[in-house]
Amino acid sequence: MLELKGQFITQGSAYGPAFWYERNVFSIPCFDITKEQIPHELARLKEARKKTKKQLLLSKEEAVRTFGPKQAKVFDIQIALLDDPYLEQLEQETLVKSLKNAEACLDIVSNRCLQKIKETCIVKTGERYLELEDVTICLIKNLLNYTDKKVFSLPQDCILFAEKLEPSDVMSLKDEKIVGLVLTENCFAAHAVILARGMNIPIVLGADVKKEQVSHNTWVQLDSKSGAVVLNPVVASLTASLPSQEITDPISKDGVCVDFWLTSGSVLPAEKIELLGAKGIGLFRSEEIFLNQPVFLSEEEQFQAYKDRVMAAAPYPIVLRTLDIGGDKTADIVKSKDPNPFLGLRAIRYCLKHQKVFKTQLRAMLRASAFGSIRILYPMISGVMELIEANTLLEQCKKELQQQGIAFDENVPVGCMIEIPSAVCTLDQLAPHCQFWNVGTNDLVQYTLAMDRTNSQVSHWHNMAHPAILRSLKWIVDSASNFNQPVCLCGEMAGLAATFLICLGLGFRSFSIYEDQIPYLKQVLHRASIKDLSKITEDALLAIDAVRSLDLFTQYLAVI
Ligand code: PEP
Ligand code: MG
Repeated sequence: MLELKGQFITQGSAYGPAFWYERNVFSIPCFDITKEQIPHELARLKEARKKTKKQLLLSKEEAVRTFGPKQAKVFDIQIALLDDPYLEQLEQETLVKSLKNAEACLDIVSNRCLQKIKETCIVKTGERYLELEDVTICLIKNLLNYTDKKVFSLPQDCILFAEKLEPSDVMSLKDEKIVGLVLTENCFAAHAVILARGMNIPIVLGADVKKEQVSHNTWVQLDSKSGAVVLNPVVASLTASLPSQEITDPISKDGVCVDFWLTSGSVLPAEKIELLGAKGIGLFRSEEIFLNQPVFLSEEEQFQAYKDRVMAAAPYPIVLRTLDIGGDKTADIVKSKDPNPFLGLRAIRYCLKHQKVFKTQLRAMLRASAFGSIRILYPMISGVMELIEANTLLEQCKKELQQQGIAFDENVPVGCMIEIPSAVCTLDQLAPHCQFWNVGTNDLVQYTLAMDRTNSQVSHWHNMAHPAILRSLKWIVDSASNFNQPVCLCGEMAGLAATFLICLGLGFRSFSIYEDQIPYLKQVLHRASIKDLSKITEDALLAIDAVRSLDLFTQYLAVI
C-alpha cells in the first residue's frame, strides 16, 4: 500500500485498476527539403489547417453536447490559434528559411513559442498559447494522415493516470469507462481539466507519482473525503470510505444553517433546484451564451435565453451576471487587441465603454424579470464610480421600458462581484449602491496574489489559504454583516471541501457551487462543527505558511 499526495478538485470516491496514459506516441519526422519542394510543403500545411479546423469544429459541437457550452469554449481558443495569422506566417517563414519539412517546422515554431512563454511568462499570450501544443499535434497528425488507432485498451472502470492531458485527449477518452483521474501536473484551471470536470468523476491534481509506480495490476482508491490517493489499498481502508447516506438538510453538526445556491448556465427546472435543497441559481455567467457566437445576441435573443432560465427556475430566484467578457474569457465578438487582457478592457469596463451592448443586455434582463425572480450582478467592479455608472444605465433602461409600456420588475435587486482587491478596500462605498455581494474567489485570488489562475508554473504559490486571501475574505464577511449586505461566496473556494471549511470558519453562510458539489458538501457540513472551524481559522489568519494552513483544514476533513 502506498499513499500519494495530491489535491482533489472534484469530489467523490472511486476504486479501480490503474492505467497510465501516455499521449502522442508517434515520432515527428524531420528532414531537409529542396527549394523546389517549398510550394508543395506550404500547400500541405494549408490542407492540414483546413482539415484540423473541421475536426476542431466537430470536437466543439461534441463537447457542447457532452460537457456543456462553458467547457466547450476550450475549442474556441484552439480554433482562434489555428486561425492566428502571426503563427501561420511564422511557420511559413520557418519552412522557407530552414528548408525543413512541414511537420518539423510546426514542431520548431510550437517549441519556440512555448519556450518563450516559459521564459517570460507573458500574460498577454498566456493561456491562449498553452493550447498551442495540442493544436500543433493535431496539425502534425493530419500532415502524417495519422489516425488515432487505439494502441491501448483501457481496463473497465479504471483510474486513469497521466502527467497532463490536452483537450483532445479528454475528447478521445470521454466514452471510456473511467471512474477517476489522477494527473501529476497541478493546474486546476487548465482547459483540459475544465473539460474533464464534465466527466463527473473524482479528479486529483499534482499527485506525486511516477509511471514506474503504476503497473497494470495496481489497484487504486480515491476518496476525496479523506483526501486519499492510495495505490494497492488494504481492504479495511476501503470500507471506511464507502459513500455514506444522502443528507438533505444543510446544517452543521452544531446546528448552523447554510444556504447553497447553484452556479449554472443551464435551464434548470424548479423541481431540480428543490431536490438539491438549493436556494436558487446564485450565478449565471451570461457570457456563456455569447462565447460561441460570431456577433452579439440581439435583445430579443437574449430575452428568450434569460426568460427560459427565469421561468424554469421560478419561484426560485436567479442571479444574472452581466457580460464578463475579455481576459481569459475570449470570445470571437470581442476582437480585443489588449496588450494585457487580464488587466484590460474586460467585464464591466467593456460594458461601460460599449454602452449599446450593455443596455441591450440590461433591457433583456429587465424584460425577463417580468417572468420570475431575478437579480442583476455586475462583474469585476473595481470601485463605486463604475457601480454608479452601471446603475445610471440600468435606470435609463427602466425608463425606456416604462415609456414603451413593457413590463418588468421595478425593484430588481442589483449586486456586484467582489473579486478585485480595490473593491475589497472600498466595501463601505459600494454598500449604499447595491443590494448584495457575490465574492468571486477565482479572480480575488488571482488579482490579490498577482498570479494567473491558468498558469501551472505558478500553481505552487497559488494557494487559496494565503493569509492575504483569508484576511480579505474575513474583511468582506464582517463588512457584509456591518452593512447588512447579503453575501454569497462563488468560485473554486466555495466548492472545494477544504476551502469550503475555511470559509465556514471565517463566517460565510451562503455558497454558490456546481450541482455535483452540493450532496458532498452537505455531508461535509453535517460532520463539521462551526465552533471548531472558527478556532482553526483564527490560527490560519495569523499563520505565515499557507500550505500548512490548508493542511489544517484537510486534516480536519479527514477526522470528521
Ligand atoms: C470568480 O471569479 O470566482 C467567479 C465566480 O467568476 P468567474 O470564474 O466567472 O470569473
Ligand atoms: Mg470572476
